Amino acid sequence: MTMKPIDWMDEVHKRKEELIAAVQGFLQIKSVLDPATARPGAPFGEGIARTLAYALQLCADAGMEVKNVDGYAAHAQFGQGEELIGVLSHVDVVPEGDGWSTPPYAAEIVDGKIVARGAIDDKGPTMAAIFAAKIVKESGLALGKRVRLIFGTDEETSWRCLERYFKTEEMPTMGFSPDADFPLIYAEKGMTDLIFRQTKQAFAAQGLFPAVETDATLLSLEAGLRVNMVPDRGQAILRPAGKTAEELADAYRRYLRDTGRTGDVTIADDQVVLSMQGVSAHGMDPEKGINAGTELIRFLATLQLDDRARQLVRFTDTYLYRQHYGKALGIDHDDAEMGPLTLNTGVIRYDCEGDIEFNVNIRYPHSHPYASWEPKLLLHLQEAALVLEVKENMPPHRVDPKHPLVTTLQRVYTQQTGQEARIIAIGGATYARALDVGVAFGPLFPGRADSAHQRDEHIFIDDLLRATVLYAQAIYELAK
Ligand SMILES: [Zn+2]
Repeated sequence: MTMKPIDWMDEVHKRKEELIAAVQGFLQIKSVLDPATARPGAPFGEGIARTLAYALQLCADAGMEVKNVDGYAAHAQFGQGEELIGVLSHVDVVPEGDGWSTPPYAAEIVDGKIVARGAIDDKGPTMAAIFAAKIVKESGLALGKRVRLIFGTDEETSWRCLERYFKTEEMPTMGFSPDADFPLIYAEKGMTDLIFRQTKQAFAAQGLFPAVETDATLLSLEAGLRVNMVPDRGQAILRPAGKTAEELADAYRRYLRDTGRTGDVTIADDQVVLSMQGVSAHGMDPEKGINAGTELIRFLATLQLDDRARQLVRFTDTYLYRQHYGKALGIDHDDAEMGPLTLNTGVIRYDCEGDIEFNVNIRYPHSHPYASWEPKLLLHLQEAALVLEVKENMPPHRVDPKHPLVTTLQRVYTQQTGQEARIIAIGGATYARALDVGVAFGPLFPGRADSAHQRDEHIFIDDLLRATVLYAQAIYELAK
């Protein structure tokens, strides 16, 4: 007996109103991290716990087996077999911020879009995955594998959810995460969060520098707030020495004029405060921004400063200034498939009584492992009495483009959209890297602007339906 092939599109459209209502209800529960209401079983607060319960209830109602892992994460499962297909999404959202056209948790429908915090990242897609799984289950088609929807709860903060989850729960054989872009992201660079630090003692221990006539002493310098952003503001405070405050201010004004940079200078209490405006950009594309910190230090290089400031300036100017690919440090590498190693100096802090601190984000392709370039980095840090602190090092993540996970999802995408399923390598990180064998598959279709983390975040209802169709067929094809 042969069964009529399932028309996935038809199955989704039959449930259209139910799906939209479920997405709205889901979005109306605010699921921002809230330590104030945390308790055992709800480690990230009441809102996230209620949101997770909402998703699990829908899955339980559809006859799936559900398991809540101490409120850190949860799953819903059906099917049978040795192998396990995972679908990994998250129910937490970033804070709503200001400036919304409709209330951020009202989930109103405006011009064919559901507008709410979490609509595209990642509660809309999570509900698409739940409905896709329901459709596969209700189809009665035989499955040779188990299917497990896994719901994380602190993707937006520190991924403690999955760290806890995978301590006791099974790692899927393979899977996808509906938390990025269509067609499919199969490779992600390795990501580091590094600190280069020089303490005052380490500076003094070098005993290197002869005293010289100085123009000024650098009292402090600050640029940037986050390692994964190009700093758009920098500020340095000088105390005049050989040059007067007016002379220093004039030199800076001239520098701004000559370079076309934007900045400002004020004099107060015989201190000269220099500010520099840069252009912010994501840390994975440092060449798209203008680094206010290193640009400001470029000016300081034109002055005769105190010994320690000179070392700071020299190191920055040599190894970091417009060094988006780490060439001067000797750590550059361009991978034909995944692109180049990138370097972003996200934060620079200097306090003449304390530490020099660079917070640097280096992203590297899989063909250029961390261990292969760390020694070169250390060598150059030593020259300036800087020590390396590795705050984070996430290795690159990549699934072979010929792996059945990739080829199956490509086939499903092309069948349903009529478009070629070009696969993508990125410098960022998606949730898929939490799986041993995982790719990101949607929900953002090519050509759509990404509203994640912004005001008026939204998902087009048409896209929600299209994604659900893709996820239903994908789950079936992977698990059959
Ligand atoms: Zn997300």
